[in-house]
Amino acid sequence: MESAIRKRLKELKERYLKRRLTLISGPQEPWVRVNGRRVLLLCSNNYLGLANHPELKEAAMKAVEKYGVGSGASRLVSGTMEAHKELEEKLKRFKKKEAVLLFNSGWHANTGIIPQIIGRGGEIFSDKLNHASIIDGCVLSRAAIKRYSHCDAGQLKDLIKKSTARRKLIITDGVFSMDGDIPPLKEIIEIAEKYGATVFLDDAHSVGVFGKRGRGTLEYLGIERPLVIEMGTLGKAFGSYGAFVAGSKKLIELLINRGRRFIYSTSLPPAVCAASIRAITIVEREPERRERLFKNASYLRDSLKKGGFDILKSSTHIIPLVTGDAKKTMAITERLLKKGIFCQGIRPPSVPSSRLRITVTSEHTEKDLRFDLGGIKEVFEGNFS
Ligand SMILES: *Cc1c(COP(=O)(O)O)cnc(C)c1O
Repeated sequence: MESAIRKRLKELKERYLKRRLTLISGPQEPWVRVNGRRVLLLCSNNYLGLANHPELKEAAMKAVEKYGVGSGASRLVSGTMEAHKELEEKLKRFKKKEAVLLFNSGWHANTGIIPQIIGRGGEIFSDKLNHASIIDGCVLSRAAIKRYSHCDAGQLKDLIKKSTARRKLIITDGVFSMDGDIPPLKEIIEIAEKYGATVFLDDAHSVGVFGKRGRGTLEYLGIERPLVIEMGTLGKAFGSYGAFVAGSKKLIELLINRGRRFIYSTSLPPAVCAASIRAITIVEREPERRERLFKNASYLRDSLKKGGFDILKSSTHIIPLVTGDAKKTMAITERLLKKGIFCQGIRPPSVPSSRLRITVTSEHTEKDLRFDLGGIKEVFEGNFS
């Protein structure tokens, strides 16, 4: 066994795909310490700067005093704690949906929900750049999987037209996690309605961020469709941890009864739920955080474009700089770190082509983002042999 492990690791290393953990000291903030040095953090999903917010910390600490640390078991075994119930009620009002169910993470949610809403004999239509947890959920469901080209509603329509499956499910990210673009949801929903398919929307990078009240991609696009099943995460813009699905009462009932990720896993710690509750309050109370995030994101996109970088079709706070080469990507990440910028390189299988994935937060100042682009360009055009 050990020699097989060594062999696999050696193979990864040879292909420049071996991964390494970077230790940072202190909380997730616009600036963090790596090896004792202060560096600009440009790869955190803490989009609204809530991960270290004093109100979230206070809410979590109070919940620890009141409820202790662990939740004891799955909610079906040792009980739903008040913090779980309160968070679900809050999310239900926030999302304006009939019902909401918490999951321990976005990963649990996607791999737990998809196999319950479609199964053998069904057909899934999934964007080629959907998140890994969606792909795993699809495989677990045993339904047939058709992948359509990224954001290509035309191809989706061609595929779904030919389908003879009784049940059809279309799945897409609301904001693509590695490309920062938004799918043509209006068209996708129209296609779904025409061909009798259900839409499952993974709003991990959008909830809290997009829409007037931060409700996510549908609110942003002005689409009201109660039957779209929406999944959102609490570990990104909400600065806490966990995930939820918002949908019909019957869907939630089914997931409580049959969703293996819900049934067979210890539920979220109450303090985490308390922090999420406070995060929703702040998201609703402070639209200025979203405005600052958009301002920062558009400033950075514009300056990168002006600096001659290709940012694909990003229109959000996630900005890809594709290098197409794993070795080069990791060399750039290291060289940027030396220049005081921490921006993680992303390689296959996380993405089809290696890239740097830049993210900004509402808490970066314009000064933070006015870094030496010329210097970065030089890094990108350097020698990588
Ligand atoms: C991060 C992410 C997930 C997983 O959520 P976690 O709570 O981090 O497990 C699911 N889908 C998408 C699109 C994501 O970006």
